Amino acid sequence: MSRYSRQELFAPIGREGQGRLRGSKVLVIGCGALGSALAETMARSGVGRLTIVDRDLVESSNLQRQSLFAEDDAAQARPKAVAAEARLRRVNSEVEVQGIVADVDAAIAARLIGDADLILDGTDNFETRYVVNDVCLRAGVPWVYGACVAAHGTVLAIRPGKTPCLRCVLGERPAAGSADTCDTVGVIAPVVQVVAGVQAAEALKLLTGNEAALLPGLLTADVWTGTFDVMELREKTPWCPSCTERRYDYATADGPASSVLCGREAVQLRGESGTALDLRALAARLRGAGEVMENEHLVRLRAPEAELVVFADGRAIVKGVADAARARSVYARYVGV
Ligand SMILES: [Zn+2]
Repeated sequence: MSRYSRQELFAPIGREGQGRLRGSKVLVIGCGALGSALAETMARSGVGRLTIVDRDLVESSNLQRQSLFAEDDAAQARPKAVAAEARLRRVNSEVEVQGIVADVDAAIAARLIGDADLILDGTDNFETRYVVNDVCLRAGVPWVYGACVAAHGTVLAIRPGKTPCLRCVLGERPAAGSADTCDTVGVIAPVVQVVAGVQAAEALKLLTGNEAALLPGLLTADVWTGTFDVMELREKTPWCPSCTERRYDYATADGPASSVLCGREAVQLRGESGTALDLRALAARLRGAGEVMENEHLVRLRAPEAELVVFADGRAIVKGVADAARARSVYARYVGV
């Protein structure tokens, strides 16, 4: 009996839908809580190719809700994309799984999205989502937005040219720091599973030719108060430049040289493009400065003033600092300019 027999018995999918899944290429952007649940569901459902891209590494505070990771991933400071790839290969060896350690900017988004049938949003920030929205519209690739914080969340499936996009619904990109985040008000695992579950259902509909079954608009859910609602959004908003003028402002802008990561006293510094650091040499150089951990993807230094994680492409995450200038000075002191 086929490993997908229960899914094939579900009439809207059937054997034909299963065949379509087998032939599909899915990209999951961001592999934290939502990305873990999304990637696992896609792997188990038997898509043909699954690509996961994430910029961060596993930490023990992730384990409460990020279901692809285990304690040894945090202890070994594994990048999430690497840990996810290893886990998903064991979940379903029939799926071609690739994990990519990178921060998704406009250029990387354009390269990865152009080669996919569907994009799933596992990010935790609007900077990346607005890039994804515009790149998907330009490339004509559908994507499923999902977000959650505390006990509530939202989902919206976006089909370029057919439904309103994220910019139609939310307006221009919200300013960084203007919304609650998981790091300011927390998040509980059940809402992650609900939001990712609805996103994954929308994904299965899109991939198996069941567009008529898609939700008619924006889902909002609160698993603590028990409130579930779908707001109908059939028309594109006339003012949205992405949809009405094909003006993809967020798909063309260069990413910022630094970004404050989601309210957790950490700053990401983007490396010079084309950098290839000698991580082993860097680790050897840093050993006198604090506790150093090194693997093939990154070097982590825990010094008294801050924690510094440097990736092979020169990108760095500095923790324990609140602003970019301070992060740059820490980076310059230990890594050089
Ligand atoms: Zn729009």
